[in-house]
Amino acid sequence: MAADRRLVRLHEALRRCPAQPANRVVTMVARVTPALGVGIRDLPALDRGAGISGGTVLPTWIDGAGALEIVTWNTGEASDLRRYGNRSHAEAQFFEFMRGREFSSVDIEISHSPCTACADMLVGLLRSMKAKGTTVSRAPSRRVGHRVYVGARIETPPDLPATLRWGALFETPPQATTPQSLRALQAVGWHMAAPRTAIPNDAGTPAITLL
Ligand SMILES: [Zn+2]
Repeated sequence: MAADRRLVRLHEALRRCPAQPANRVVTMVARVTPALGVGIRDLPALDRGAGISGGTVLPTWIDGAGALEIVTWNTGEASDLRRYGNRSHAEAQFFEFMRGREFSSVDIEISHSPCTACADMLVGLLRSMKAKGTTVSRAPSRRVGHRVYVGARIETPPDLPATLRWGALFETPPQATTPQSLRALQAVGWHMAAPRTAIPNDAGTPAITLL
């Protein structure tokens, strides 16, 4: 199934990607800044038994600041979820690549909304990066008479733009996308966009920009 045509960056990245294995259902591209000093390369599949690569790194020079595009895909079938968790998912290949790497922005286009396991992972990725970049200061102390009131601790998280756009709703049990997992993504700072048909109807679904 081809990704939604509204996912322009994904289509563009897939065109530039020479080694995409055939018949991938889920495809994604993540654009991160800064460029992280990594050259073009294939990523090994997280599930070593997959028999195909997990993705490709494509350097870009779109805005001069330098960014890196990481294209990944599913390396197994959605029906493998019960046995293998999300190790074969496109998001998991990206997450593995980002392990230990720092970033100042992240923009993802993916054919399908993240399953609950991948949503947890994306929440953790952004949360830990924001925690690393958080600066701590203290409000000035105040003297009132003979007393000194020590200023309160002020934590300032970094401005870290994070967007996630998808084209279709991932509805395969047992880890179909839930309103709760979308709320968790939103709470940590992911800005989400999707077509109307790819947004859960359930009450409790957070505000998602229409593509
Ligand atoms: Zn997943």
